[in-house]
Amino acid sequence: MEGNKIGGQATTEESLLAQGYRKYTGKDIDIYYNKDICAHVGNCVRGNGAVFEVGRKPWILPDNGDAADDARVINTCPTGALKFVRKDQ
Ligand code: SF4
Repeated sequence: MEGNKIGGQATTEESLLAQGYRKYTGKDIDIYYNKDICAHVGNCVRGNGAVFEVGRKPWILPDNGDAADDARVINTCPTGALKFVRKDQ
């Protein structure tokens, strides 16, 4: 799924928070996660376990990866539970 779009529209912080996503702030990219949508498939954790680590608090640390790779991993999330807003483009 495209991690920077919902229903074809570019994601914004405002729209994501309104839809129940929680924000994980990074330097170049903010990552948003909606636990109600997550199917626990684990693509995120397998994609980069330094950024996505279940059981850690916070479980998402965007700056443990670079923004382009974070976006790549988020795009492998099959449910749309992960979204991002790039701040470096
Ligand atoms: S890839 Fe998406 S659906 Fe799968 S565990 Fe991660 S956030 Fe949840």
